[in-house]
Amino acid sequence: MAILVTGGCGYIGSHTAAVLTEAGREVVIVDSLVNSKALVVNRIEALTGRRPAFYKADVRNEQALAEVFETHPIEGVIHFAGLKAVGESVAQPLAYYSANIEGAAALLRVMQRQGVRRLVFSSSATVYGDTDIIPYTEDLPLQPMNPYGRTKAAVEWMLTDLYHSQPGWSISILRYFNPVGAHPSGLIGEDPAGIPNNLMPYITQVAVGRRPELGVFGGDYPTPDGSCVRDYIHVMDLAEGHLAALGLIEGSHGLFVHNLGSGRGVSVLEMVKAFSEATGQAVPYSIKPRRAGDLPAYWADASKALRDMNWRTHRSLADICRDAYEFQRQNPKGYVETT
Ligand code: NAD
Ligand code: UDP
Repeated sequence: MAILVTGGCGYIGSHTAAVLTEAGREVVIVDSLVNSKALVVNRIEALTGRRPAFYKADVRNEQALAEVFETHPIEGVIHFAGLKAVGESVAQPLAYYSANIEGAAALLRVMQRQGVRRLVFSSSATVYGDTDIIPYTEDLPLQPMNPYGRTKAAVEWMLTDLYHSQPGWSISILRYFNPVGAHPSGLIGEDPAGIPNNLMPYITQVAVGRRPELGVFGGDYPTPDGSCVRDYIHVMDLAEGHLAALGLIEGSHGLFVHNLGSGRGVSVLEMVKAFSEATGQAVPYSIKPRRAGDLPAYWADASKALRDMNWRTHRSLADICRDAYEFQRQNPKGYVETT
């Protein structure tokens, strides 16, 4: 039996595909490659010794999806495929509503027709929006603040309605905090196109000399050092969280919602310091104005995932920094098509 991983060539999907394969699962990837490269499949094979089946297709293409289900004995789906840049979602909301909401609806229709009713869905801490209640617990109301977050909340609601409409579905909604780091081999990692929006890829690109300095967005927040605080989670811990979630929905029917985070807040300046200590690389930076839409501080209450599926993070901030740097060092220009 096989697990379909949509978006499996992307950052989190590729690490999850590697972890699943290492755990003895058969992996089938569907990815449109809108934000990734096919050579990631070679890297997963190099890491695990087994090559996942790969289909280049958009999840909104129901016929292409149906053919995948008819070719492989799919027993469950992990749905990563989607668009994820908050700023872009403000500029192009219709593209986000289409990829994220229509994409999920198309996948669910095909699953329904094929009789596959186990799904793990990539949601985000961004669904919580602005709240004073920190750490975030899963029972907080959803009040997303931007189009990207609204697409994630909409899919969560769609999944909840579907679950209640029909018996037999077993669904895990995972709300990720800030995924960072890379596989310790340096073979797979985060490879953003263009100028990185996110902190960690920006830091690693500064460390290898691809960018001159990091801009720290805001030094006057009401936090201990004035910079923003987030919950950074090693992508390998996150990938293992998906294996745990699969175990949960395979072991029982239900609709489960879990935060995947470390439960610890780290500031931007702490991250810069940890990176330099772990890698020996200086990261020149300067304090810049605040970035629109950033919240000062939040982190996860990760205790429910520990209680329900015996999952918690194991890797340290130093592991995160070392592994992220190793990927960037081995792939200074990201994934390049000759390898
Ligand atoms: P990513 O862009 O690296 O991976 C997403 C993959 O999906 C890419 O390979 C892309 O080519 C593919 N894709 C996009 N739209 C598609 C479509 N319509 N059909 C088929 N394939 C499509 O992103 P990621 O960081 O690996 O994120 C994976 C999932 O996790 C996304 O749903 C994202 O919203 C969610 N998430 C990410 C973060 C984060 O900070 N990285 C945080 C919370 C949630
Ligand atoms: N950040 C920064 N400089 C950058 C990118 C990000 O100071 O070049 C800060 C950002 O303001 C936020 C934190 O780093 O406080 C994490 O940002 P990221 O975009 O990685 O994730 P987010 O928390 O927005 O999901």
